[in-house]
Order: sequence, then structure tokens, then C-alpha cells
Amino acid sequence: MTSLAAKWNYPTTVRFGAGRISELPEALKDTGIERPLFVTDPGLARLPVVASTLKLLDEARVPYGVFSEVKPNPVESNLAAGIELFRAGKHDGVIAFGGGSALDLGKLIAFQSGQTRPVWDFEDIGDWWTRADAGAIAPIIAVPTTAGTGSEVGRAGVLTHEASHTKKVIFHPKMMPAIVIADPGLSVGMPPFITAGTGMDALAHCLEAYCAPGYHPMADGIAVEGMRLVFENLPRAFANGRDLTARANMMSAAAMGATAFQKGLGAIHSLSHPIGALYDTHHGMTNAVFMPYVLAFNRDAVDERVARAASYIGIKGGFDGFARAVRKLRKELNVPDTLPGLIKGLDMDRKRKMLIADMAVVDPTAGGNPVKLTKKAALMLLEEAITGI
Ligand code: NAD
Repeated sequence: MTSLAAKWNYPTTVRFGAGRISELPEALKDTGIERPLFVTDPGLARLPVVASTLKLLDEARVPYGVFSEVKPNPVESNLAAGIELFRAGKHDGVIAFGGGSALDLGKLIAFQSGQTRPVWDFEDIGDWWTRADAGAIAPIIAVPTTAGTGSEVGRAGVLTHEASHTKKVIFHPKMMPAIVIADPGLSVGMPPFITAGTGMDALAHCLEAYCAPGYHPMADGIAVEGMRLVFENLPRAFANGRDLTARANMMSAAAMGATAFQKGLGAIHSLSHPIGALYDTHHGMTNAVFMPYVLAFNRDAVDERVARAASYIGIKGGFDGFARAVRKLRKELNVPDTLPGLIKGLDMDRKRKMLIADMAVVDPTAGGNPVKLTKKAALMLLEEAITGI
């Protein structure tokens, strides 16, 4: 029997709604930030959505700096450059603006700029976060422009360790943004590939959190409603990026996924992380490729549980119906069935497959999978994702 004892954490103040980006100057006042560093990625930096947001700061006469050297899967050199600018500009807080990459890096700059130990000393292992000087963490305002990672309501940032090709989760409770402005209008310009990939990321978070063992009824409830929102709204947002209702519901689902996954994640993420680190693939899209294979692998442990969620969502046919709905959703969104469909020219030899399986079983998310992810199982799932069986 599961122990009825657990630790629950709930997110932060979220100003949610189309047009609420106009409240950014007010949010700065509320958090006491006077000289923010605006962190975004180079793609977004060229788009009108950034120009119009910076105009709001200009009009409010807020002195700010802009940093946009953020790779899609951010690396340590991005962090070092951001910290240098943060210190040189005497900034006192961060506006993290973008998808998971810019949000994570913005949060990491706010966190790491006041620390003396290397960032890897704060990996999400045991109580390593207590090594940090909590008083030196700068306040953060997070503004998501994608709807997937939910990083805006999370207490961690993902950073790729280039030497070992591993994605590391850096954690501190104070990395939670003080205020989130979740304005679905900002996500309207997302191209279909990113809409699909990020939306499937939200589904992966909800599904894996829901299936993870442990006592967390609140996370379970949030995850189930998050899945419903994805099934009902992602195809609409994909078909018509200007559908603000669908965009709003997806932005909610993303935040819900990240709130729920404090309960745990699982093998979708354990396998997706090494692929992302080695091949620089889009995180959510990689999760989407692995999803049906991992779901089938976990069946014995989650059959009834998934059937219960399916019934709430309005999917007929219990576990099988849910598994079919996942495949149908992937097809509608043009998600490739296999890794070679995602990574052009992919040619993995045995040694590479063993390396990926080794990395998957030690990934911190592996412990949350409802069926033990052994090396043999990781190899089998990898093979299925390569051949599409
Ligand atoms: P992303 O941030 O890498 O962005 C992908 C692309 O979309 C970029 O080119 C960006 O310029 C573009 N883009 C973003 N918003 C746009 C908009 N509104 N209009 C047009 N283009 C836009 O993608 P993502 O999926 O949001 O984030 C992935 C990253 O998040 C990975 O590094 C992953 O490891 C991390 N992640 C973090 C957490 C967490 O809890 N902190 C959870 C999951 C994933």
C-alpha cells in the first residue's frame, strides 16, 4: 500500500489572460526589480512579440538589458555569458521571456549570478540545493511564449553538460518565479512544429506524473484535467494558431503538467533526455516519439489508472482507447512515428544504443516510471522507437 505521506508544493502568482503582458511594468514594481535583464532566445529576439514587450518597458522608463545568446537546449557557455552581462549591467532581477530554453536560462542566470560554487554543484540530487546561498538569488518574472515545458511554474532549470552530453536539472526552491505572466496572445506566432512539440511535452508531463507511483492526489487531479485540455485543444491550436481559446487552454495545460510532475516523471523523459543531449532534438517532439512505446511497456502497472483517466477525458475503450487516442493525436500533429523520422540520416550502432540505454537508466526521471526501467528495457524501447513497432 502506498504511504499516505508526501510533500506537496504549489506554484506562484500567475497573471493569466490575453493582453496581460501589458502588466509587466506593474509586475516589476511588485517584485521590486528596478534594472531587469530581459532574457530571451535569438529567434524570438527578432520577432515583433519581443519588440512590443520591450516597448512596454521603454514607455514605463525601465532601464533594462537584453540577453539572447540562448541555444534551444541551453549550455553552460550561455549561462556564463548571461551572468557576465547580468553583473556588468548591475541588474537586480530577470525577466525570462520565451519557451523552456529561455525561461530555464533566465532562471539559471538569476540563480547562479550570486553563487560562488559551480552550477553543477546544484544538480537536483538529494539536498544539494542547500549548498546555495539562497539570499543571493535574484527575483524572476517568467513570461512563457510556448505552451509545453511549464518551466514558468517550476523550481528548476535544465542545462546541458556538454562534456558528458547529459541534460542536468539544476534545482532550488527559490528558482520559482515570483510572478508569471501567462499571456496566450504571445504564443500565437508559434509555428506548427513547435506548437505540436511543446503541446506533446505538456501531455507527456501530465501522463507521466499521473502514472508515477506515490501519493499525490492533487497532482493526479491536475494531471488528468491537463490531459483533457491537451486532447481537446492541441489539434485546434495546431490547425489554427490564432485560436486564442485553444492557445489559452494549452498554456494552462503546460503549467498544469509542470505542477503535476513534482510527483515524478518516467521513461518517456529518461529516454528523451539522452536523445536531446546527443542529437539536439526538440524536447517535446522527442517525448512524443517515445510516448506510445513507453505507455505500452507500462501497461500492466497502469492499465486501470489510465482507463480511469480516459473515462474522465471522454475517450472510450479504456487503456486501449487511450493508447489509440495518443497515436491519433500524434498523427494529426505530424509527429514522426520513429526516431529516424525525427533525426534525418540517423544511424545508430550498437555502442551508441548501449550508451543511450546507460544514460536513460541513470536519468533522474527513471525512478518515477511505474515499471522499473532496466537497461534491457531501455534498449527494447529504444529499438521500438527506431523501428516503429
Ligand atoms: P524552446 O524554448 O527551445 O523554443 C523552441 C523554438 O520556438 C525557438 O526557436 C524559439 O525561438 C521558438 N519560439 C518560442 N516561442 C515562440 C513564439 N511565440 N513564436 C514563434 N517562435 C517561438 O522550446 P520549448 O519546448 O519551449 O523548451 C524546450 C527546453 O525546455 C529544453 O531545453 C528542455 O530541456 C527544457 N525543459 C524544461 C523544463 C523545466 O521544468 N524547466 C521542462 C521541460 C523542458
